[in-house]
Amino acid sequence: MKKVYSHENLAIVSNAKSLLELNNIDCLIKNEFHASGGHVGFEAIPIELWVQDDAKATEAISILENELAPDDPQSSWICSHCGEKNDGSFEICWKCQKGH
Ligand SMILES: [Zn+2]
Repeated sequence: MKKVYSHENLAIVSNAKSLLELNNIDCLIKNEFHASGGHVGFEAIPIELWVQDDAKATEAISILENELAPDDPQSSWICSHCGEKNDGSFEICWKCQKGH
């Protein structure tokens, strides 16, 4: 078995798991009980996604890299309404007040 992905958010890891299953890659989630316990601590324990077949690990990683957007809240975004560029810390467009 090989670890191909990890994230603190169970929903994101579950999404990654379904993506791999759609591509016929057997996989399983580890550490999910740590995250679903409702504990709020300083240290987030990443939930891990493992593939059963080592030979498919490379394929799995490239699928996930293509399908999952980078989790970077600070990256800027372009408003789809007015085309203005916004800083990643803005939830709505500073110019036209529309959301992403
Ligand atoms: Zn706008």
